[in-house]
Amino acid sequence: MVGASVFLKCENLQRGGAFKFRGAYTALSRLSAAQRAAGVLAYSSGNHAQAVALAARELGTSATIVMPLDAPASKMAATRGYGAEIVTYDRYAVDREELATGLAAERGLALIPPYDHPDVLAGQGTATMELIEDAGPFDALFVCLGGGGLLSGAILAARALSPGVRIHGVEPEAGDDGLQSWRAGRIVHIDVPRTIADGAQTQHLGRYPFAIIREGVDEILTVPDEALVDGMRLLATRLKLVVEPTGCLALAGALARREELAGQRVGVIVSGGNVDLDRFAALVSG
Ligand SMILES: *Cc1c(COP(=O)(O)O)cnc(C)c1O
Repeated sequence: MVGASVFLKCENLQRGGAFKFRGAYTALSRLSAAQRAAGVLAYSSGNHAQAVALAARELGTSATIVMPLDAPASKMAATRGYGAEIVTYDRYAVDREELATGLAAERGLALIPPYDHPDVLAGQGTATMELIEDAGPFDALFVCLGGGGLLSGAILAARALSPGVRIHGVEPEAGDDGLQSWRAGRIVHIDVPRTIADGAQTQHLGRYPFAIIREGVDEILTVPDEALVDGMRLLATRLKLVVEPTGCLALAGALARREELAGQRVGVIVSGGNVDLDRFAALVSG
């Protein structure tokens, strides 16, 4: 289809259903014994919550997760199922960061951010490290972009293990803050973007990721939501993979650049597969 050899890193098959376990586990494993005894806190309505909950259980510490009252029941259940305590809040009335920071200080918990942290982005980089160890080196690498943890980790790994690879970050068309930031040379903030890629609905890049992305990425491109649905259909029918909309960003980016990829070796990170079956069915049949 692309006229190239395309290798997918299938993080939809990762524990917790997304690459986020890598960053969470790396960050938690580097806490001091005292911090681990006290426990950790994260705020997320998505994959980072489940990842921190699971990593905490694996490492014998406790996790408190701050989630909006109206978070999907399946995500709350999964997070609780990993043994985390969930603190809910009204997203229309309460500032999440203030609540989380206050709670962490009050209870003496280490705050684990979803992307703006050196250990988190280093952990996310292991997805690319493994892909290159298994299948690389590559001519081109496609990685989705939300807050920038996955992409900045990918840049660090790829620059070390596959020098000369062209690295493409891929964002939803409606949420092109990464592209704007890269062009402007500073972090640009946007309103919450309307896109089905809920894992990339970030309003701005993190400071640590941006410092790496700014120098290390070769292109940031955007793809429309329809291309994500096409990707979900393609991955389901041809590869028998269930992938969430955000997880299809990188593949959609590679397909958009197919002409220039002819004859090359291409790596694509499929970032996650957490999507309710009803939503999956509605999207692929719509
Ligand atoms: C978090 C997430 C992303 C975005 O990752 P960042 O590190 O925030 O750029 C992409 N896909 C999935 C499935 C995610 O959970």
